[in-house]
Amino acid sequence: VSGAIPVSRYSERLKATVEQVRQAGLRALLIGVGPELAWLTGYHAIALERLTMLVVPAEGPVALVVPRLEVSRASEVPAVAAGAVPLHPWTETEDPVRLVRGLVPGQGASGSGLAVSDTLRASFLLRLQDAFRGAPFGVASGVMGPLRSVKDADEVELLRAAAHAADRTVLAIASGRLVGRTEADVAREVRERLVVEGHDEAAFWIVASGPNSASGHHEPGDRVIGSGEPIVLDIGGRIAGYCSDITRTIWVTGGDDAKGPDTTFRSLHGLVQEAQAIGRERVRPGVAAQELDRAARRVIDEGGHGEHFLHRLGHGIGLEVHEDPYLVEGNQEQIRVGQTFSVEPGIYLEGRYGARIEDIVVCGPNGADVLNHAPRDLMVVSGT
Ligand code: ZN
Ligand code: ZN
Repeated sequence: VSGAIPVSRYSERLKATVEQVRQAGLRALLIGVGPELAWLTGYHAIALERLTMLVVPAEGPVALVVPRLEVSRASEVPAVAAGAVPLHPWTETEDPVRLVRGLVPGQGASGSGLAVSDTLRASFLLRLQDAFRGAPFGVASGVMGPLRSVKDADEVELLRAAAHAADRTVLAIASGRLVGRTEADVAREVRERLVVEGHDEAAFWIVASGPNSASGHHEPGDRVIGSGEPIVLDIGGRIAGYCSDITRTIWVTGGDDAKGPDTTFRSLHGLVQEAQAIGRERVRPGVAAQELDRAARRVIDEGGHGEHFLHRLGHGIGLEVHEDPYLVEGNQEQIRVGQTFSVEPGIYLEGRYGARIEDIVVCGPNGADVLNHAPRDLMVVSGT
């Protein structure tokens, strides 16, 4: 992929984050392993019981506290290798929380509050709260969310590459054999193909057939896919940490023309498709996130299925599959150029069937740049 993140970008992100920490009147951000750490330094690590923590004080140098065992790996992290972030290793018998405490300058003009990364383990947070007795704690997303939600050109290209790999995976699955296989077997193929088509790893693989298509987050199981039924495929993977997320609904005939989609399903899918198109068309800088949800929901309401559209219209996407901004009633945040998010209406008839269509879009200066290209029409396939 041409769009790997240039190392200079991490210094820019750290600088912008420190600025926000100061404006928010915080003393420091304490960032554990997770998407915030990846975004600030390029360190994609697995959260372990040993503490790894980036300390970002309002005043004073940034530092990365790492277990001694992880030093060689951490040394290769882009922001560390570039000299922007010094390492502070701790050995097995040391207390890493004390080390963190020592790296946060005393309370200054900036205030006393600390903010931790949103997914920091409770056990670490409790020990930090003990070490910084009396200090108010909050979550880092308040400071970092607005910065992270606007993607730069390199991030958009990674998301685009991931979206195209997901497009190809959907088309490959839809054109292959489906009838007579279990959902779990097709899900296994989805995981393999996501990687074959260019992802570094598969992230999720919903294969929901027949009545299971009415369940938004179905776990693929032993159900055998038959002819004359829909399948909702909602799948995604990661490239250099950046996620894809696509949903297409297909109908499997088993090669028997008499087993095509019934009129109810056709009209239901048509409504979803129309709502999804409206959602994409309304994207422009300055539109409130909830307005996008409302515009798409209105189409489904007027089609008589309002009560069957059970979830928000979409979610931001980047280093996390679900992140700011959320397209949901009540979110008056104005969409900005560079924000990337899903547009994914659905209609679910409990016990019968359902349909969803999902694309990832980036807000451009004049409207949506749609990253997914797989056709959105109901894909009627033989599946044999
Ligand atoms: Zn999805
Ligand atoms: Zn999604």
